[in-house]
This record gives sequence, C-alpha cells and structure tokens, in this order.
Amino acid sequence: MSRMRHSTKPLPKDDEYLHVHQMPYFLEALQDRLRTEKPDDPLEFVDRFVKSVPKPKLVIKGPPASGKGTQCEKLVRHLGVVHISTGDLLRTEVKNGTSVGKQVAAFMKDGSLVPDELVIAIVKKRLSEPDARQHGWLLDGFPRTAVQARMMRDEGIVPQAVMKLEVSREEVVSRIAGRRVDPATNKVYHATHRPPPPGVKVIQRPDDTAEAIVKRYDTYMQNANEVLKEYSCPIYAIEGGTEDVAAAQILSKYQKLRWTKLLNSKRSKL
Ligand code: AMP
Repeated sequence: MSRMRHSTKPLPKDDEYLHVHQMPYFLEALQDRLRTEKPDDPLEFVDRFVKSVPKPKLVIKGPPASGKGTQCEKLVRHLGVVHISTGDLLRTEVKNGTSVGKQVAAFMKDGSLVPDELVIAIVKKRLSEPDARQHGWLLDGFPRTAVQARMMRDEGIVPQAVMKLEVSREEVVSRIAGRRVDPATNKVYHATHRPPPPGVKVIQRPDDTAEAIVKRYDTYMQNANEVLKEYSCPIYAIEGGTEDVAAAQILSKYQKLRWTKLLNSKRSKL
C-alpha cells in the first residue's frame, strides 16, 4: 500500500477524480490479490472482487463543536457516503412541526437527550432509504447512549469503524460562542474563523448557549465510554489539530482498514 495518499491538499483535476473515487487504493488492493492468488480466470476474479467491495459504514463521535460537521462534509466528499446526523434529523422534525418534533423540542432546547425510542425509530427509517443502502453511511450524533448502541447492534446496524474526535471542554466552550449555522443546509460556520459566504444567512442555534453547551459536553463525556464499550469494531482516536490534519488522519485510518483488512485479508472469501 505504498502509494496510498493521505493528504487532503488539492490534486491535479484528473488525479483528483481518481482519488475522490478511491481508485488508487482499489487498484492496489486488486493487484495485491491477483499477485497472491493468481486466479485461472483473472477477469472473472476482478468481477467478484468489484462486487465484494464493502460500502463504508462509519460512526463519528465527538463532543459538541468538536468539528464533526466539517469532518462529515469531507468524508461525504471523499467516500461518497450518506451523512446521517440525528441532530439534523431531529431539528427538521421540530422545524416541520411533526408529532415527533413536538415531543423532542423541549429536550433539545435545554441540551438534554431525546428519549432513545424516538431517536432509534428516526435512524432506522433513514438507514433503510435507498441512498444509504447504496452508498453506505456515516452516523453522526448516534448512538449517544449504551441503549442506542445495543439496539443498533441488535438491528444488525454494525459499523466498520468508529472515529472519535478528541477536544477539551475549554476548547469546546470557546468555539461554541462563534458557531453559526445555515438553517437551509445545516452547514456550520464560525463567526470569525470560517465566516459564511456572502448572501448565506446564518443563525446561532438556540442550544448553543454557554449553559447548554456545558451540559451537552458533560452528557457526552458521561455517555461516551459506555457507548464505546458496546463496539467490537476498531475505534480510532483522532486528536484535534487543524481540520485538514484531522481529516487526513480519519481518511488514512479508514482507507487502511478498508483496503487492507477488509479486502486483502487472506481469510476474506470473494
Ligand atoms: P447535535 O446536533 O448532535 O448536537 O444534537 C442536538 C440535540 O439533539 C442534542 O442536544 C439532543 O437533544 C438531540 N439528539 C441528537 N442526537 C441524539 C441522540 N442520538 N440521542 C438523544 N438525543 C439526541
């Protein structure tokens, strides 16, 4: 896997296409398998190999304002996955005034967790939609409790890896004051470090107050270890740094897992 590229710096256009679609990793993994297994009918082997490529199934975890939103955008661009954020799904329910929205609004406003059954029902529905089945998924903000993690596993929703962003409480509190969101797209900006483009109207989320953020951070920390104990897949700790450094770390760890472990393993049958 010597030719793997983990930087997120721009590439020449044609190379960018290949990279975005992970072709260098794929081709290298395919050649490794051909070299090792020397099948009698290589084209037939290639056909089976292509069909065996697993769709990405990832969970991203991190305290509020840990940069999850930005990392998710990058992962969507690089892996083509469907980003499923329970916070966004719940906010949409509230905005549309649905019966779920009415049940969850008060919990969300003060930074408490919404009851497990409501969140699980929403996630299951979203994961069953065709785009998530076809392109794979990136779960963001779920599971948040051990109950949610167990229910997820019991439903056969099993990630290949968990990416855990690590950011201190002080850093989270200082970032949140400037956080702004475009309610139309759910894109996250920062008043000074990442201002929205001209013409984009942004708001401050009602739960981005100092009191609510401290509560959300503490709730996250209390639940995080319990949730992580429920996983048997690899859990990768991603330590801060700039957005690009964190993104490169996440992609590098996932690509390595996906193309070496998931595809090259001698035990994996095509
Ligand atoms: P987030 O956008 O991920 O910070 O989520 C905003 C709010 O939505 C949280 O403070 C909770 O009230 C609620 N929420 C989001 N995901 C979950 C979840 N998995 N379980 C319970 N409540 C959630």
